[in-house]
Amino acid sequence: MKNYDVIILGAGPAGLTAGLYTARNNLKTLIVDTNSVGGKLNSYISIENFPSHSGSSEDLVSKMTKQVEDLGVEIEEFAEVTDVDLYNKVVEVNGNSINSNSIIVATGSQPRKLGIEGEEEFSSKGVSYCATCDGPMFKDKTVAVIGGGNSALEEACFLTKFARKVYLLHRRDEFRADQIVQDEVRKNINIEVLFNTVPVRIEGDDKVRRLIVNQNDITRAMFVDGVFPFIGIVPNTEMFKDYKGFLDGAGFIRTNSFLETSVPNVYAVGDVRNTALRQVITATADGALAGYMCALENK
Ligand code: NDP
Repeated sequence: MKNYDVIILGAGPAGLTAGLYTARNNLKTLIVDTNSVGGKLNSYISIENFPSHSGSSEDLVSKMTKQVEDLGVEIEEFAEVTDVDLYNKVVEVNGNSINSNSIIVATGSQPRKLGIEGEEEFSSKGVSYCATCDGPMFKDKTVAVIGGGNSALEEACFLTKFARKVYLLHRRDEFRADQIVQDEVRKNINIEVLFNTVPVRIEGDDKVRRLIVNQNDITRAMFVDGVFPFIGIVPNTEMFKDYKGFLDGAGFIRTNSFLETSVPNVYAVGDVRNTALRQVITATADGALAGYMCALENK
């Protein structure tokens, strides 16, 4: 069995930064990802809100990856992870059992998808799940935001900094967002709220042109340049569902302020844990703290 000091599950910004901190503390570190390095950064064209970086997210991924590889961290991309035993710290990767003293879970989350025709086809061609990242590309355009929770309403307000017109579509006739956020939406003259409106299909050519909706049982086309679904997120924690007390009611990993989980020597960082803000900056901060905690633990 191959041995490491730390195995990090997930090679997004949280996992890579955790690796940066463990490697700088001379811990033998393996980062494993079932996909390519970069995590959710790979879904965005640019990142504008990471200190000192405003531009291509691909560049940010390359820089983060090189930094940890230069320190000797091993990265297994596109790995087949068949089992994770958090108690015994054994991970089955590509048919091999790998053992460690500590595990950092950085498996991230994914936006809940609408599941309608055109959503996947126009992803990154007008369909976006990150207003902060992609909003500036919709300057003076018309966009549709979908959802009735805090995220949808807050992001609709944010998008009016760029878009000329924001339609806010909600499937019911009342929002579930906090009243204060609802008041902000009502005050914003660039947002038009459409209740009882369900997206049916996204159409376009090389980019989004139309959103077909069903409003009060009438189907019609809306001419929009962008579609922003904010209908909740889904954590990548399916493999941990049998660990008692490990997840909260929504499936996110419970952590304390040191990012410790309910299992000794197992930490959770980034979007997969129960937290209020899920951004690159918060993910990297989590990674740093968990990496540091592992260093203390392995002294
Ligand atoms: P929520 O689960 O709160 O809201 C999801 C919204 O999407 C709901 O209005 C829901 O409709 C709608 N929806 C779900 N599935 C579909 C679908 N298939 N088609 C159309 N609409 C759909 O998610 P959020 O991401 O907004 O928020 C998650 C959590 O984070 C919440 O607890 C929220 O309060 C919190 N949050 C807090 C913030 C803050 O405090 N500043 C900022 C952002 C989020 P319906 O209402 O009918 O169920």
